[in-house]
Amino acid sequence: MSVDSSPALMDSQQQSRLRHDWSRLEIKALFDLPFMDLVFRAQSVHREHFDPNQVQMSTLLSIKTGACPEDCKYCPQSGHYNTGLEKEKLLALEKILEQARLARTNGASRFCMGAAWKNPSAKDFPHVLEIVRQVRALGMETCMTLGALDQDQSDALAEAGLDYYNHNLDTSPEFYNSIITTRTFQDRLDTLERVRRSGMKVCAGGIVGMGESAADRVGLLQQLANMPSHPESVPINMLVKVKGTPLENVEDLEPFEFVRTIAVARILMPQSYVRLSAGRQSMNEQMQALCFLAGANSIFYGEKLLTTPLPEESADLALFAKLGLKAETLDAGNSKQESLHAERELENREPLFYSADQYTSRHAAPSGAVN
Ligand code: SF4
Repeated sequence: MSVDSSPALMDSQQQSRLRHDWSRLEIKALFDLPFMDLVFRAQSVHREHFDPNQVQMSTLLSIKTGACPEDCKYCPQSGHYNTGLEKEKLLALEKILEQARLARTNGASRFCMGAAWKNPSAKDFPHVLEIVRQVRALGMETCMTLGALDQDQSDALAEAGLDYYNHNLDTSPEFYNSIITTRTFQDRLDTLERVRRSGMKVCAGGIVGMGESAADRVGLLQQLANMPSHPESVPINMLVKVKGTPLENVEDLEPFEFVRTIAVARILMPQSYVRLSAGRQSMNEQMQALCFLAGANSIFYGEKLLTTPLPEESADLALFAKLGLKAETLDAGNSKQESLHAERELENREPLFYSADQYTSRHAAPSGAVN
């Protein structure tokens, strides 16, 4: 299925059939259904809107890693915690393009890029826009997560061709302050509203297994489902407990509760891609298959999800073969030669990191004036 014909692109008639007024009681009643009934219902909804045997594959690259001023208690990239994570500056454009080409060759239809920032700085922003233009020119969908955006930044990203902006709500409004204190839940909603106003598609979801209550999982999904438009992508993450973060010893979430969360997300947001996201590496094949059965139809594919490992690509392909799943790709024409070429290009012929000063001098107008 091509991305342009994605069921996530809703016409107004379809949109009117979607609900945005779910009460917490209704959502809790879904969670409380017998497991088989819940999964059957979720799979039925899924089949109305998607090919049940296709999974959208995205690749995520961390383009700037660590030293983030935010204090998200689950995140090894926060500068507030000592997790031993190696920090990296903003990557050079060529390095990012090499990774994007490789991801495309390996079957990813969307290239997602994450930077550990509170928000993009004025100094780095022109480089970010150039990254969007050039990755888009490769024929891939683009997604970025850069922290909070003001309206001008959001508009500029949209104009540069960014397809999706990721900004997760993380958890319910009630539990939110136990997880993050450096930006508010409302700040997140405001950024998402600006992204919508700019005409970009929204990728927004949350994390479960952070010690939240069942009511908090209901509250998170209610916030997502009752947005004026459902996010086109809804990543549901299982907490990856990283040593050195405040959540390293939190109690494990019962795996069936995770599957239930996927199933309820599918029912509430029938036309969204529900992404089985962080935490997939710790799930066995049967658990992942249950998640697909419950309506998950998107995964991150590749070595790492920002800073936590993902299942090996070959393991993903083996599981797809066992289940008869197919990747939803944009471009089937990538050859083995291109893959090898992309791999060769990865051998560092360009500087690894981007320098804002170099970028400015290389891209300045002949007069030396910088816009
Ligand atoms: S989740 Fe994002 S905003 Fe929060 S600390 Fe990590 S990189 Fe920063």
